[in-house]
Amino acid sequence: MKIGFPRALFYYDYFPFWAGFFYRLGIEVVTSPPTNRQIMEDGLKKTSDETCLPLKLLAGHMQTLKDVDAIFLPRMVSIEANTYNCPKFLGIPESLLPAVPPGIPVLSAVINWRKGQRQVLKDLQIFGLEVGKSKGEIRAAFMEGQKWQQCYQDSRGKGWDFEEEMREIEQLTRGQMPSSNSPKPGQGTKREAFSSSLRQISETNHRLRITLIGHSYLIQECYANLNLLGRLRDKAEVNLIQHVEQDEIEVNLSGLRKKLFWSHAKQIYGAGNKFAQDQTIDGIIYLTCFGCGTDSMVQELVARKVRDQHKPYMVITLDEHTGEAGLVTRLEAFLDMVERRKAREGYISTHGERMDRYSNSL
Ligand code: SF4
Repeated sequence: MKIGFPRALFYYDYFPFWAGFFYRLGIEVVTSPPTNRQIMEDGLKKTSDETCLPLKLLAGHMQTLKDVDAIFLPRMVSIEANTYNCPKFLGIPESLLPAVPPGIPVLSAVINWRKGQRQVLKDLQIFGLEVGKSKGEIRAAFMEGQKWQQCYQDSRGKGWDFEEEMREIEQLTRGQMPSSNSPKPGQGTKREAFSSSLRQISETNHRLRITLIGHSYLIQECYANLNLLGRLRDKAEVNLIQHVEQDEIEVNLSGLRKKLFWSHAKQIYGAGNKFAQDQTIDGIIYLTCFGCGTDSMVQELVARKVRDQHKPYMVITLDEHTGEAGLVTRLEAFLDMVERRKAREGYISTHGERMDRYSNSL
């Protein structure tokens, strides 16, 4: 069996889990190609105007998956206790059925961690019936998926390249039957990661340190964000909130009067707050998109924290019409401002009279 997995939205956070899950079941996973103009335009045609950009992209990616036995669209309700994913995650797959290529069935599995691991396993076993797998096979696949996800999460922030890791995981899932000694994603790249980390460290001292805040599926989506991350990395050392450990996020959430109950909002606010307090960070950029309900609130919360620390801060709002020239101009102006400020903060002009010239005390 060959199932299609769209390279959008949940791909950017949870693909390692699903890749490990299907790998163990012996099901081949085919991912859609990286986003291009055609994919974006196809996505726009199948979704309503007020839908957020990541969902439009997801609709576009689904339409490229024509040569598969089924398209897989998980309904990821919750991935940790006491929180939910954004409501738009919950509406998948029904909200995107118009984007399914004719004749291709949709498979879906529910992940609702609020009800605990046992319930998640039960829901996956219901999914297992649809693909002809036993309860035992599903349990083994679930554990394999968790290991792949853990391996991926442990590697984040250690100089590993997102695309490289995803490529590696995708290669593993393609046409290979599981063995008892399953290879771990990331093996063999540690040496390259190590040397690239060393290079980064040696270049770091004189470079600006910028934090890029936003959903993983906007930050890593190079086509839709016009390669913002790559452009930033050319000019500065970039910190991503996705590299912040969960413990640190929890610590930085503690000042809130009311708990945030969306997983991504917690990550963005907790990590954003941490970077706002970090005196080695020179500036913060918040990447959001039109139509994002959770960002409309969280962006303001983060902005207040950053303002308290008098740090340069810029919000970039993406949609399908965002132009390259406008983005580049804003980015350059922001980085120039941060650089000037870094170089001249604390500078007192020597022009004019000295403060102590007529002083009796000196
Ligand atoms: S969090 Fe925002 S960008 Fe993400 S799916 Fe929900 S509305 Fe869309």
